[in-house]
Amino acid sequence: MERYVLKTANEGMAAAKAFCISESDESGNIAKISFDSAVESLKKSLEDAASKAGKEYDGMIEAQILLLEDPHFTGEARRLMEAEGTDPIEAIKKAALGLAQEFEDNPNPYIRGRAADVKGLAGELVLIISGRQTEELKEDAILVAQEISPALFLKLDRQKIRGMVTKKGSSTSHLAVLAGSVGIPYLYGDFDQDSINDGDRLIIDGESLTVGPDDETWKEALKKAEKQALAKSGKTAGHTDTGIFANAGSAGDVERAANAGADGIGLMRTEFLFLDRASAPSEDEQFEVYSKAAKLMGEKELTIRTMDIGADKTPAWLDLPSEKNPSLGCRGIRVSLQNEQLFKTQLRALLRASANGNIRIMLPMITSVWELDDAAALMRGCMKELESEGLSCRMPKVGVMIETPAAVMMAPELAEKADFFSIGTNDLTQYTMALDRESEDPGRYEESGIEPVFRMISLIIKAARGSGIDVCVCGELAGREDMVKRLIDEGVDKLSVSVAKLERTREKAAEAEIGRKRPVSVTCGYAAPADGRIVPMEEIPDPAFSSGELGQCIGIMPENGRVYAPCDGRITSVAKTGHAVTIEDPEGKTILIHAGIDTVSLDGKGFVLKAAEGDRVLKGQLLLEFDRKIIEDAGLSPMVIVALE
Ligand code: PEP
Ligand code: MG
Repeated sequence: MERYVLKTANEGMAAAKAFCISESDESGNIAKISFDSAVESLKKSLEDAASKAGKEYDGMIEAQILLLEDPHFTGEARRLMEAEGTDPIEAIKKAALGLAQEFEDNPNPYIRGRAADVKGLAGELVLIISGRQTEELKEDAILVAQEISPALFLKLDRQKIRGMVTKKGSSTSHLAVLAGSVGIPYLYGDFDQDSINDGDRLIIDGESLTVGPDDETWKEALKKAEKQALAKSGKTAGHTDTGIFANAGSAGDVERAANAGADGIGLMRTEFLFLDRASAPSEDEQFEVYSKAAKLMGEKELTIRTMDIGADKTPAWLDLPSEKNPSLGCRGIRVSLQNEQLFKTQLRALLRASANGNIRIMLPMITSVWELDDAAALMRGCMKELESEGLSCRMPKVGVMIETPAAVMMAPELAEKADFFSIGTNDLTQYTMALDRESEDPGRYEESGIEPVFRMISLIIKAARGSGIDVCVCGELAGREDMVKRLIDEGVDKLSVSVAKLERTREKAAEAEIGRKRPVSVTCGYAAPADGRIVPMEEIPDPAFSSGELGQCIGIMPENGRVYAPCDGRITSVAKTGHAVTIEDPEGKTILIHAGIDTVSLDGKGFVLKAAEGDRVLKGQLLLEFDRKIIEDAGLSPMVIVALE
């Protein structure tokens, strides 16, 4: 039995027999079919893969096809054949090597990753041209190879791929993204590839690869793998007060998360829609992907993060300035605000898709309050446009990622304006510790980052509580079994982890919650929806309320202009003018909250709704804001009324 600790490109657990993909020996190959038909045939098989793989892969497969047609690749091979009379197989290999070298010399790690793609495509072309077939997977297996190209991966039967181990790889490669999207555990790094033969027992567990385990270890691993498969099929056990949400990098991930019983999606990354393609995705294309995901999640929250491009995720079609320190430069919200048209296209698609489900929009890499203001202003502009175009849309909740120390320190101000926070501990650790998150050798600094990050989490939660907004942790820290209890004890409301970690995180959260008193639920009574002085029902200066005609009422003379949910529940209606909402509590009772007396006459002036009809809300969550001065200047009372049916 041999055990290796490797790098994780996609976390998970698998126990299956090895299927070794050897470096194809192309030395004796003879061209049996024409170069052009081989290119056509490979293109067709990629297109077939696209139709089977689902829409979210379109961009990636399109990129493979574009690469296949690249003048520096097949164009160059053609030139070598025509101008220099080179044999087709030699011409393919030579052209591929040339282009791969160009990619490998590029400082951008993302572009460097394309070298494997071009070599993979060349390997496939050589196989086709010499009349040979890619080996077929006959049973469930863990693939073992020096390197696996996306082209090869897409050709194999994905249902049978239990896991993958390669000597060469990276966590940002196309293969890693593909593996993540279909939930296949994938490790890369140094191991003795030659000692593994077809049919050998292999176990992937977290970052470890075990070759040839003994019977007992093998049986245990098979059991564990089966348990995980059950979890993925939706049979997760236990309920936790802490929301156990999933991170998704594609629409496919959303489907897997829904099947695995996630409480919602805490982070849907949208970069996959923007990378690996020739041009920006259209509003309609994005709308379809977001709507499909929203429908899959039904009533559950789907938090979609606007594009976090820049740094290592740079689309070729977007002319971003080349910077010495891209992680400190134009990325995330900065790219969005500097490319307004591109951002507006995404926002319009999100606002439209929000009409189809419980979407929340999340902004990445926030460092300043004005970024949230500017984004919110653009959203309002897009809403107006969509409404005037007669397209159905909805203004969802808008939250920010807290992943820079600046955002932590500005959290109280951000919490006043944001509807929720999500803590991105990957970047927060990077920027706090001045430690490159891609560092291959972070030494002791990664663990040293935990304490300062926890102190920041405590500040963030305090700020969020002050404004009644919820806090999720969606960075890798949330998926660390040894951190779940500490995060819950700090008071985070939701943990968002990869689909593979959902079950284990839920188990850990359930353990952590034993004996813990969850802050007030509806059975313990309602909370006051506003800070202020209580006014008895009979003193409310409006007979509609004081007579009891609208149920049991209470007034609150507010100290500020904020109205919160008095209990967990669902918003059943909102006044168009923004001055009133009704909530259905978990027992089905309806509570009306009315901000101000006769304020309907203001026709919305001075009111901002923070929740929409159909939203699930948590006790203490901000529902609406009003400008007390506008109400008083109009000669009206700002008294907040709560009426129980
Ligand atoms: C993070 O920074 O923790 C995060 C979740 O975002 P990403 O990993 O996509 O940068
Ligand atoms: Mg981040």
